[in-house]
Amino acid sequence: MTKTSPTLNTAVDDSQSQDALLARADAGVITRHIFPAGTLLFKKGETRHCAFLIEKGNVHIIGNDDGGEDKLLCVIGAGEIFGEMALIDDTPRTASAITTDESEIFVIPRDSLHDRVKGLDPIISLLISLLIERYRMTRIHMPESIKQHNISGFIEKNAGGDAQDAAMPGITNIARQRQDALKEMRMEQELRQALKRKEFVPFLQPILNLPDCRIAGYETLIRWQNPEKGLIFPGDFIPAAERTGVVQALDMLMLEKACAALAEIDRVADGRSAPLFISVNLSGINFGTARLVERIRDIITQSAIDPARLKLEITESALIGDATQAANILTGLKALGVTIALDDFGTGYSSLGYLHKFTIDDIKIDRSFVNQLHDDNRSIDIVRAIVSLARNFDLKIIAEGIEHERDIKTLSDLGCDYAQGYFFARPMSLTDALDYTGRYLSQQS
Ligand code: C2E
Ligand code: CA
Ligand code: CA
Repeated sequence: MTKTSPTLNTAVDDSQSQDALLARADAGVITRHIFPAGTLLFKKGETRHCAFLIEKGNVHIIGNDDGGEDKLLCVIGAGEIFGEMALIDDTPRTASAITTDESEIFVIPRDSLHDRVKGLDPIISLLISLLIERYRMTRIHMPESIKQHNISGFIEKNAGGDAQDAAMPGITNIARQRQDALKEMRMEQELRQALKRKEFVPFLQPILNLPDCRIAGYETLIRWQNPEKGLIFPGDFIPAAERTGVVQALDMLMLEKACAALAEIDRVADGRSAPLFISVNLSGINFGTARLVERIRDIITQSAIDPARLKLEITESALIGDATQAANILTGLKALGVTIALDDFGTGYSSLGYLHKFTIDDIKIDRSFVNQLHDDNRSIDIVRAIVSLARNFDLKIIAEGIEHERDIKTLSDLGCDYAQGYFFARPMSLTDALDYTGRYLSQQS
């Protein structure tokens, strides 16, 4: 902030300020407004809910000097935020704010922070809320004992979950946030324990060639064999594993198990098929890990599998963010001799840019298109477009989620190279997959 001498007329009239109007009009949403010169954004003594961020223009902050007279305290300009205390509690404004020229300003209501904090990692969300809460308590100068009482009283008050504090709607629903954070911390502990106890196992789902439906390989899909809860599916723990960083260990474990499984599959296949591939899912989180390529190289070397038979399935989330780093990692992985498949294609950004920037071998068309093939012509058009796109980049196409026999011919006619889905087989334990391989190859030959 730049302090200047009080040159402006500092009289603040009594009419209702813009803050009050805006708070009512735009509750819960950050909005951008153009204010004419001389707009009173907020007035000393008001208790309102908005902070302001100046994009263009200038604002005078006018408050009391020591003698109790209104005077210009400072002039603030583009990029500066002011009135932020209103995001924390209902303490009256200690100064007024007036635009000096036409100004473009973002108005940030307190409510708008709710969804943003809610969307964060639950532990960060809890810590932010606690810090704000502690701050509020220290701002109200109370003896320590009363402050403590108030915090616990506050938590109790919110224990019902939906009850919200009038001054901090949503943000300070600490009781629920505490539950979420605890759940997350417990989950992290359980995941780490389960890793130590070797409770994670690979399930394998076959992938077949089109049009002849010969078995081409398997996708490795993780399962958690929990001694109390039974088999837990990845949808129930991979998101937490990604937030807590446990996913790297899970993915490397699945990679090791997949390489070992391939050797067993070879033993059962006994030369009755072309060499099968095995694919492993690699969370995008791994792309931020140092030595990812080296770790994968070490696992391949130790298992002694032909890297050309290993497929790593990544999603677009691995590629957005630091694209240069992602490209380097992919180049490093390709140098190991493995193939790369872009999973869930069509659901994310699916931009052409990815395909020419990154060294990708296969595209897996998301099952949401495959399972609508017969109800929705648009899905056929989308698959056709993806196939022609893939052809231009010399990529192979795997169609996921095939549940009906009729879709096999459609996908084959559209030009898909591989098919995977419940119609052929669900993901199976290694024992069942070996059995399946043996039976399938016997029928084939
Ligand atoms: P994904 O990689 O897209 O895997 C395909 C999912 O679709 C699997 O669910 C599979 O069982 C299911 N699926 C296969 N065919 C059909 C079908 O015909 N119909 C329907 N409705 N579903 C089908 P799953 O095993 O529950 O895995 C869910 C997701 O969890 C995977 O989606 C993947 O994103 C993630 N995941 C699985 N294993 C791992 C892993 O080892 N590491 C990481 N990072 N993620 C994994
Ligand atoms: Ca996959
Ligand atoms: Ca997929």
